[in-house]
Amino acid sequence: LKTKTRCVSDDYLERGLSRFRGELRSNDLRLSQARDALVRCVLQQPGTFCIKDLVLDLTRAGVQGTHFATVYRAMPLLIDAGLIRTLHIAGADAQLYEVAFERDPLPHLLCSSCGRSIEFRSKALELLRSEIAQRFGYELSADPIRLRGRCELCH
Ligand SMILES: [Zn+2]
Repeated sequence: LKTKTRCVSDDYLERGLSRFRGELRSNDLRLSQARDALVRCVLQQPGTFCIKDLVLDLTRAGVQGTHFATVYRAMPLLIDAGLIRTLHIAGADAQLYEVAFERDPLPHLLCSSCGRSIEFRSKALELLRSEIAQRFGYELSADPIRLRGRCELCH
């Protein structure tokens, strides 16, 4: 079902890896080949993802020694390094994450059944947002606009 990856620059991946290396150092861990591959895989996720998605992508990419448990154990490190954040979605069958590293949060549609999200850009929505902020004298935070509902597959 999930085939897309986000197209990111090598620079971006290197910055992410170097951030992660710093986090590993402070935990007395090293950047193994498997962790290197995991970080690259994570930073290329196009929307929300769960651990199973990562395991699947890594297995497809032929990365050796990819197990649910190893990826699971790396998640807190990725969060502490500021590369990803958790999403809290009632009813989702697995813990979901999204990339947080150097990412302006984009508006997205969020399925309240399966937890998948679709990011989009909308000039009209941006204009509306600033128009409303101005009207009520608000300085808005960078939180993304989230439209909840049920996705094509779930409804
Ligand atoms: Zn859905």
